[in-house]
Amino acid sequence: GSKSKQIKLVLLGESGVGKSSIALRYVRGEFNENGEATIGAAFLTKTVNVRGQSVKFDIWDTAGQERYHSLAPMYYRGAPAAIIVYDVTSTSSFTRAQAWIKELLQQANSQMVICLAGNKADMASEKRAVSREEGKDHADEHGLLFTETSAKTGLNVEDMFINLAAKIVAT
Ligand code: GDP
Ligand code: MG
Repeated sequence: GSKSKQIKLVLLGESGVGKSSIALRYVRGEFNENGEATIGAAFLTKTVNVRGQSVKFDIWDTAGQERYHSLAPMYYRGAPAAIIVYDVTSTSSFTRAQAWIKELLQQANSQMVICLAGNKADMASEKRAVSREEGKDHADEHGLLFTETSAKTGLNVEDMFINLAAKIVAT
C-alpha cells in the first residue's frame, strides 16, 4: 500500500505513573511489576495500520526527565504526538499532568495531538484519587484525547495508540 508515516511520540508525566510500563505493554506486550521498566535513552517503535495508512510510532520515553525539567523541550520539540500520563491513585500526578498540558499548549506546535491518560486503572476500585470525570473534563477543556489505562492488564493501551494514530492521519 501507501508509504508509512513516521510519528515521534513523547511520553510525559510524573515519575512512577507508568510511562515506561505503557510503552513496554504496547510494544512488547510485557509488564514488569517491580518497575525498572525504563527504556533509557533509546526509543521503541511500533507500526500500526489505521484506515489503510501505515503509521510507525517512534515512542520516546522520558526517563529521568521528570527531575531535569529544563531538558524536556528537546524531547517534545517537533513531536507531532504526546501522551501525558498521570496515575489515577495520585492527585499530585494529576496536578503535574495539568502543568504538562499547559506547557505543551504554550510551547509545542499547535498541531500536536495529545492524549491525557489516567494510568493504573486496575487500582481504581481500591485506591482511586482522581475521578474519571475530572480527567475527562480537563481533556475536553483543552481538546485532548482522553482515556484511562492499565499497563498491568493492558486495558485501553492499544486503543489509545490507535486513536492517536487515527487523529494524526485525519489531520
Ligand atoms: P515511569 O516512572 O512513569 O516510567 O513509571 P514505571 O513504568 O517505571 O512504573 C512505576 C511503577 O508503577 C512500577 O512498579 C510499575 O510496575 C507500576 N505500574 C506501572 N503501570 C501500572 C499499572 O497500570 N497498574 C499498576 N498496578 N502498576 C503499574
Ligand atoms: Mg520510566
